[in-house]
Amino acid sequence: MSNTAITVAHGDGIGPEIMAATLHILKESGALLDIETIEIGEKVYLSGNAAGIAPESWKSLRRTKVFLKAPITTPQGGGYKSLNVAVRKTLGLYANVRPCVSYYPFIETKHPVMDVVIVRENEEDLYAGIEYRQTQQVEECLKLISRPGSEKIIRYAFEYAKKFNRKKVTCFIKDNIMKQTDGLFHEIFEEISAEYPNIEGDHWIVDIGAAKMADTPEKFDVIVMPNLYGDILSDVAAQIAGSVGLAGSSNIGENVAMFEAIHGSAPRRAGQNLANPSGLFLGAMLTLVHIGQTDVAEKAHNAWLRTIEDGVHTYDIYKEGVSKEKVGTREFAEAVVARLGQKPETLKAVEYKQDTAEAAKEKPIFSTPEPQKKELVGVDVFLDWWKGKFYGVANELGALVEAVNGDGLKLQTIANRGVKVYPDGFADTFTVDHWRCRFVPDAGEGNAIDHQQIISLLLRFDDAGLDVIKTENLYNFDGKHGYSV
Ligand code: NAD
Repeated sequence: MSNTAITVAHGDGIGPEIMAATLHILKESGALLDIETIEIGEKVYLSGNAAGIAPESWKSLRRTKVFLKAPITTPQGGGYKSLNVAVRKTLGLYANVRPCVSYYPFIETKHPVMDVVIVRENEEDLYAGIEYRQTQQVEECLKLISRPGSEKIIRYAFEYAKKFNRKKVTCFIKDNIMKQTDGLFHEIFEEISAEYPNIEGDHWIVDIGAAKMADTPEKFDVIVMPNLYGDILSDVAAQIAGSVGLAGSSNIGENVAMFEAIHGSAPRRAGQNLANPSGLFLGAMLTLVHIGQTDVAEKAHNAWLRTIEDGVHTYDIYKEGVSKEKVGTREFAEAVVARLGQKPETLKAVEYKQDTAEAAKEKPIFSTPEPQKKELVGVDVFLDWWKGKFYGVANELGALVEAVNGDGLKLQTIANRGVKVYPDGFADTFTVDHWRCRFVPDAGEGNAIDHQQIISLLLRFDDAGLDVIKTENLYNFDGKHGYSV
């Protein structure tokens, strides 16, 4: 087998120490690597690079397509962009995968039997970063969920389950409220789940699902989620496993993958040979599996489990009565090296089959949609309108907006933050300065309109002195509502 080129960044704070420890174990385990080292983080930020990564470093990432990254320190103060976000977005790393495992009874945990993998969508949802201040009182953030984006992540989760012999994939969504965005994610989950009859597919509304995960994580196996829920719940899962300092994660794209520890650069612990290298080490195990060096990963990972089991612990997991020896970063790495070839006796040994590499790459990862018939059937016009009162003004606005009816369009309803307030609203409904006026055809709902009608409607709004802040077109797709009713 020939060497595989990977890009390595040593990072800031405790980064260089835990990377040195990790690379030492990899080398002694027989990993076949050609390492390209790049500089990222604090120094690069402070040299005037707003993303914390130099242009030539991107070339290394594009060349090797594999990135093992130590934590970095983001300098205080404004103007610095998140390096992780830049790398994820630039390289299209759509899947964030975080195994959360407890190591009872050797490491304290509330959940002795926990082995959950969180698969988080990494590119869309409320994290597209599209936000607007629309009125003095209201800010907006767009939540975007796409069919191909959801197919990519959900298929990845099922392929991961298949390759790693997992029995169940659970989807967390909030589609009782967000019927279209989370509804789409759920619908695609059901479609893809049907293609994997040997893997149980299961779904929970995210609130109760999260509560169950925190209470009985042993009932879960792989959990796939849109970006925001995944961001929050992957931290919860790592924390309740008892092991934030012990978790690694991967960020997977179609071409490039990045691996890291989930913790930060712990600057107060830096340079003291104190830090636990295990999170980054486990990130490195994900790297080896990804590049197909599964035998090396199995050997190193089992030696690490044996070290944990033998009670050789860094300060962060050391516990009197359970741990046997308190060690520093370097000594911990040496203890793992000394156990290469051994397996844990109480904890479950890991087994990596050769074909576990590059889990999601066998199938086309998203489909090209069949064209649908798209019809424009109305428009929502959003207004900034303020009468100095939070109650009892909707009928006054209703009269003003009725006056712009015409040219085949008529006002159907006015809503304030999703609550209908006109016609027939209640005077005691709280309203702010942000109003949605829905216009449908005179000929009745579902009939087609054209863009010219919308343009002339907006001109009439302008003539009436009303401040339009945005419009949303109402479309039907193959005769089905494409908007909330
Ligand atoms: P942190 O994860 O660095 O530290 C949180 C706590 O955990 C501290 O008490 C720390 O001492 C401890 N800790 C973390 N890793 C440890 C380890 N390996 N061994 C022993 N103890 C460990 O989080 P923070 O203090 O909020 O952030 C510090 C810096 O890290 C910030 O600049 C932040 O921006 C950055 N950060 C980077 C990443 C990344 O590069 N992916 C992620 C999170 C935070």
